[in-house]
Amino acid sequence: MAKSKFIKLNTEMDEYLKLLREIIAIRSVSTDASYQTEIHKAVKWYKELLSRAGAEVEIISGYDNPFVIAKFLVDKSLSTCLVYGHYDVQPANIDEGWTSEPFSLRIDDQRVYARGVVDNKGQALIHIYSVIRAFRENKLSKNVVFLLEGNEETGSPALPRFIKDKSKLLKADLALISDGEIVGSTPVIEAGFRGGFNSTLQVKTADLDLHSGIYGGTAPNAAHELITILTKLIDAKTYKVNIPGFYEDVDTITDDQLKNNKSIPFNSKDYKDISGIKVILNEEYDVYTQTGLLPSVQITGISSGYNGQGYRNGIPAVASAKINFSTCKITIGAKKLQNSSENLLIRLNQVMLRSIYKSTILMKE
Ligand SMILES: [Zn+2]
Repeated sequence: MAKSKFIKLNTEMDEYLKLLREIIAIRSVSTDASYQTEIHKAVKWYKELLSRAGAEVEIISGYDNPFVIAKFLVDKSLSTCLVYGHYDVQPANIDEGWTSEPFSLRIDDQRVYARGVVDNKGQALIHIYSVIRAFRENKLSKNVVFLLEGNEETGSPALPRFIKDKSKLLKADLALISDGEIVGSTPVIEAGFRGGFNSTLQVKTADLDLHSGIYGGTAPNAAHELITILTKLIDAKTYKVNIPGFYEDVDTITDDQLKNNKSIPFNSKDYKDISGIKVILNEEYDVYTQTGLLPSVQITGISSGYNGQGYRNGIPAVASAKINFSTCKITIGAKKLQNSSENLLIRLNQVMLRSIYKSTILMKE
């Protein structure tokens, strides 16, 4: 019954693309609860594909969106590889600048376009599909366990607990993270991933918004105060993070790593063309070192005052910013990371309290 799915099509690439088209069409958005039906559709799709191919599949609930575990057992005496991937995606709407419907796979000039195609449905499916084929053809030389999660895009809040509870199920000799990219046509082995956490910074200057005609010039303005704090986060010339101790816990970057990263093919014109950026910041380091081995702080959202149609002459009493921290200490444990994020928040708070005395500042994770 099951195998018909694989024998009708001509080439391996056709088979892969057919499957990719199916899973891309499932809108498994984890950041919005209204997509729960699609999340469960995606889980069912992987379960069917993997169990038809001969894997022992387990769907585990109780940790936010379900985890899919699929084991391809060849021989107990062989070593086991654990492959991690995620089936959830960020939302996408054609109005946001897509040239075609984001949940429909488009192939153009040898490239595939769709929401999730490089994060992470495309890569995870390459690993799944390759293992399925190797297993079917008796060419699999290791046992393989797939771990597919559905909350990567919301920061994997339940993953540490899941790993702790299910360590027996996930036992492996090596682990492969399929959630990476290739550089041009060069395959890549990642040396590390940055971790991170998010926080919201809120500044309050008054009990209510005040009329700019009556209070303008005397009352502190929450939007101004917030901007003053935010401009202190990053050095305007060097783009380094100004929080004391921010770089303290970062692993030393070795000369070998720097040499290696400089030798990875990189096309700055493509980098700029694809993203639309005009300059690459922090040219002291190559892009791979900067985005892989160094931490960063990014303001990811700002809100204050009136943002509806027309104008309202009110001095905002409250302003808030969402701030994302990308941290990188490869060997850091979950608990230590938690502690260091708390430390960072405390240090950040100290900087702000020293510089701002006109406002109440609230910082929460
Ligand atoms: Zn991802």
